[in-house]
Amino acid sequence: MTKIVGLTGGIGSGKTTVAHMFKALGVPVFNSDDEAKVLMNSSVIIKQEIIELLGENSYKDDTLNKPYIASQIFNTKAVLKQINAIVHPKVAAAFDTWVSKQNAPYVIKEVAILFETRTDSLVDFIITVIAPLETRIQRVMERDQKSREAVELIIDNQLSDSEKIKKSHYVIENNNRLITEKKVLEIHTKILDAMHKS
Ligand code: ATP
Repeated sequence: MTKIVGLTGGIGSGKTTVAHMFKALGVPVFNSDDEAKVLMNSSVIIKQEIIELLGENSYKDDTLNKPYIASQIFNTKAVLKQINAIVHPKVAAAFDTWVSKQNAPYVIKEVAILFETRTDSLVDFIITVIAPLETRIQRVMERDQKSREAVELIIDNQLSDSEKIKKSHYVIENNNRLITEKKVLEIHTKILDAMHKS
């Protein structure tokens, strides 16, 4: 049976960067955040539920109105949780379908909110990517042209690194790319070894 490895970490820690490194080793990768973005535009049910929650302004020309949604999340903390509750079950179903089609010893499920959605119990191993807070803020401000406040708000809604580390099998400190690559290879070997032993 294909094992599932959850790859998590706070915003800007470098999950996607690390996921690409696993992909280069031949490991299939599912990006939950990308899937969520796709589904928010393509799923009629999600669209209906988001409009029920936040009103008709949530979509513009049939496309998710991101600035409006972001402003709603910014104003009311609970909104993010409510959106996650709408989108998450559909992403989980898409993942199940995807994983059933994979033919590999293990797959990577990249998900920023693995613990927050209480889906950590559904994976066989957990890898958490960490980086210093200020580095993460700078990376995201640069990548997404977001304000410091907007990045900090997202960080405030995520579990702290120390809590994530406690619950993880492996931790990757992602500062220097070459060191990260080495660590990825080391973990890849360890996971395959652990699977052979079990
Ligand atoms: P999000 O939670 O927003 O999806 P993430 O954890 O997937 O973020 P990445 O998108 O991989 O993070 O990285 C954030 C930004 O930091 C990207 O622009 C990426 O190119 C850059 N980055 C990632 N790792 C490093 C590194 N080791 N050195 C320098 N820049 C990096």
